[in-house]
Amino acid sequence: TESVISRSHLPFIVGGTNYYIESLLFHLNPPNPSPEHSHDKQFTSLLNDLSEENLSKLTSVQLHELLSKIDKPTSIRRHPNEERKIRRAIEFYRDSGGIPLSEALKQQHAESGFSYRGSFRFHRCCLLWLTCQKEELEKRINDRIKSMLDRGLINELEKFHDEYNQTCTQAEQSYNYTRGIFQAIGFKEFHDYLLLSNIKRKSEHGEKVFANAIERLKLSTRQYSKYQEKWLRMRLLQRVEKHSPNVYELDTTNLSLWYENVEQRAEAIIDAFLKDEKIPFDALPKTPIDEPVYEQNTCLACQRVFHMKSQWLDHLKSKQHKRVLRTTDRAAYRQKLNNAIPSLLNTLDLLEMKKISEIEKKNDEFEIDNEMIETLENNN
Ligand SMILES: [Zn+2]
Repeated sequence: TESVISRSHLPFIVGGTNYYIESLLFHLNPPNPSPEHSHDKQFTSLLNDLSEENLSKLTSVQLHELLSKIDKPTSIRRHPNEERKIRRAIEFYRDSGGIPLSEALKQQHAESGFSYRGSFRFHRCCLLWLTCQKEELEKRINDRIKSMLDRGLINELEKFHDEYNQTCTQAEQSYNYTRGIFQAIGFKEFHDYLLLSNIKRKSEHGEKVFANAIERLKLSTRQYSKYQEKWLRMRLLQRVEKHSPNVYELDTTNLSLWYENVEQRAEAIIDAFLKDEKIPFDALPKTPIDEPVYEQNTCLACQRVFHMKSQWLDHLKSKQHKRVLRTTDRAAYRQKLNNAIPSLLNTLDLLEMKKISEIEKKNDEFEIDNEMIETLENNN
């Protein structure tokens, strides 16, 4: 891109994954290896311990523990289940020669105002976003998958899978299945099917597994498109800075209106942009939000750990949490009542029991303990 610009040409970028667009639009600041450690033998051996091979032997929880030793702030941000992100943070530490990811991000934050990326690379940039209404998008996704199948997707997968299996051992396989191409959409959904023998693939069971894979592929593709939209909103509309480019929406839902809604509009936008004139259409509104606050909270009642403050606050308000609290309250009260002599229970207990009973009646979730309340009332 920079070389195109240096020749006074205008680069046009079409398509690309979020990762690609992200690395294109934003500075990523690769940290310099820290010099203070470079001659430290102990340190060098620690980094060697973090080799790909050693890491692959660790479970997700062990990796999380390891990360908490080398990069505490990042480990707090990560749930032990987020294996790939944890692994990436450890690899970052190793490959940068001992710089914790959290440190590198802090440095980046100082430069761009954002911890997750650097500043915008270009001061003048125009973004066109092709959108599509949900139902129509789903239809297009399904059509596309059908045409992929018609063009022999499954033969291709079978061939690739069988060739791959011939070249590696069982252990390598189970290890490799959790990464790389095997995690790609359009492959991972077919794992179960591909693991079947040739004969089983053609059986009734095989057909069922296959039909299931197709449904999963449709679902993953829908989820991916949602993820892309979320990415765009988050990166370009919510976390904005001085040079945040405008994003113009082009609605592709109705293909018979392609010329008016997409082509003509895009031309008018780019034309005005190039002439530095006022663009005749409104850009998508920017709705800045604060960066998330990371804070570790544990809900003892639900036995869950939360890493973001907003998630924790949402959890406290959630139905699920309240239900658990009611059940534990109820269990605690039942215990108390079972162990206590009824006449020694106070009015507060009685009120509390009544309240719980009311909630239960409303929710119709548990059987009602009227009998116990009656006994209590009589005793008081
Ligand atoms: Zn809870």
